[in-house]
Amino acid sequence: MGQSKCPNCDGTLEYRADHRKFGCNSCGSFFTEEQVKKLFKGKNKSQAARPIMEDDEFCQGELYKCTVCGAEIMAEADLKIGWCFCCGGGLQKQGNLPAAYRPEGILPFEISRDAAVEIFKDNLAYGKLSPSAFSSDEVLSGLKGVYLPVWMADCNVGINVNGTGRTVKSWIYGDQLYTETRDYSVERNGEAEYFSVPSDAVGKMDRDLMAMAGNYDFTKLQRFDPSDIFRYPAEYCPVNKGEAFKCIQEKVKEDTRKTVGKSVSKYTDFIPENEDIDILGTYWNYSLVPLWLLTYTSGRKTYRFAVNGQTGKFAGDAPVSPVKLSFWALVVFVTVALLTLVITTVTGFAGSADQSGFLVRSVGTGAVLGAFAAAVVCSIAVRSVRRPHEVPEPNTYAGDAETNFTTKLDRYVRQYTTKVKCKDK
Ligand SMILES: [Zn+2]
Ligand SMILES: [Zn+2]
Repeated sequence: MGQSKCPNCDGTLEYRADHRKFGCNSCGSFFTEEQVKKLFKGKNKSQAARPIMEDDEFCQGELYKCTVCGAEIMAEADLKIGWCFCCGGGLQKQGNLPAAYRPEGILPFEISRDAAVEIFKDNLAYGKLSPSAFSSDEVLSGLKGVYLPVWMADCNVGINVNGTGRTVKSWIYGDQLYTETRDYSVERNGEAEYFSVPSDAVGKMDRDLMAMAGNYDFTKLQRFDPSDIFRYPAEYCPVNKGEAFKCIQEKVKEDTRKTVGKSVSKYTDFIPENEDIDILGTYWNYSLVPLWLLTYTSGRKTYRFAVNGQTGKFAGDAPVSPVKLSFWALVVFVTVALLTLVITTVTGFAGSADQSGFLVRSVGTGAVLGAFAAAVVCSIAVRSVRRPHEVPEPNTYAGDAETNFTTKLDRYVRQYTTKVKCKDK
C-alpha cells in the first residue's frame, strides 16, 4: 500500500502487526486494510463537496504577527492597535490574509461591551485590595472585543459492534424465585457523521484564562462572514492535527458508544465482544469565538481579564496593591495588639506584681498575636482576590448529527431459567 496518509491528521500510516491494522503515529487512529483501501477510493469526498470559498473579500484584511509571542492576528488593513492581545507585544505587518486562513464558522458576540464592563465591575467587588487605578474609566476603556480560534473537526465514523444482549426476568412462584435469561446475538454496523467537534487546540492566548472563560455553545455556530473580523481583530493559529485529534477522537468515540448503547437499551445488559469505533476521515476547519479582553499592567506584571462574549463568564486575577495591603495589615495588627493589651490589663493575665515585666509580656503578646492576625487576614484577602472563578464546563456542540446503522441484527440465541428457594420473609 506504500505510504498512506492518515485521513484524520495527515500523519503517516504504517502497518502494525500487533494490531493487524494500519496505525497512525501522530494521532493514534487505526484502520483495517479494507478501510484504508476504501478511504483512498473515496478520498477527499467530503472536502470536494464543500463550496469553493470566494476569498477576494477575505483578503482585504491584513495579517499581523506579534514580535514577542508569535501570535498571528487578522484584522482590518489600517489597524491602529500596535499591540498583541495575547501577550501585549508589538505587532508587525505581514501582508494580505492568506486564503487558507479563512475560518469556517463564527460565534457572534451576545454580550455587549456595556454588559461586559458591568460584569468586570461586579467581579471587582472581590478586588478591594486592587490599586484604585485598576477600575478607573481609563483602564476600562481598554476592554476590547477579540476573536479567538478554535479548531474543529467533522468526522466520519465507522461502527462495528457486536456482543450479547441479555434480558433478565424474575418472578416468584411458591417458595421459588425463578430467573429467566434470554440471550441475543447483537450486531450494529454502520456509519455516523459528526459535525464541528471542538478540539482543545488553542492559540497563544493564556490557556488557563481560556479554560475559565472559554466554554462555548457551538450549536449557535454561524457561517463566517468577512465583515465580522473587521469589527474585532481575530487570532489565527496553526493546528497540530495529530495532537488535537486525540481530544476529538475521545469525544466522538464516547458519543458513538452512547448512540450504540441507546440502540441496545431494550436489553437488561449488553456485553460487547467486539467494539470497533473508528474515525475514518476528518475534515478540519476552525471557527472564531468571541471574548472581551482587558489587559492591565501594574509594575512589571500584566494582568489579563476575560469575559466570554457569548456566555458572560468572567475570568482573571485582580492585582493586589502593596499600599492597600500594608494599610489593612497595619489596621489589623494595631487593633489586635491594642485589644490584647486591654484584655491582659483587665484580666491581669500577664500578672501585675512587677510593672516593667508586665508591660514587656503584654506588649510582646500583643505584637505576636497582632502579627499573626494580620498575616492570616491578609493571606485570606489575597486568596479571595486570586480565586479561581468558575469550574470550566465542557463546550456544547451538535455532536452526532447522523447515525446510520446499515446492519441492526438481534438474533435469538438461547434461553435458560434458574430457580432458587426464596429466603423466609
Ligand atoms: Zn493520524
Ligand atoms: Zn503576542
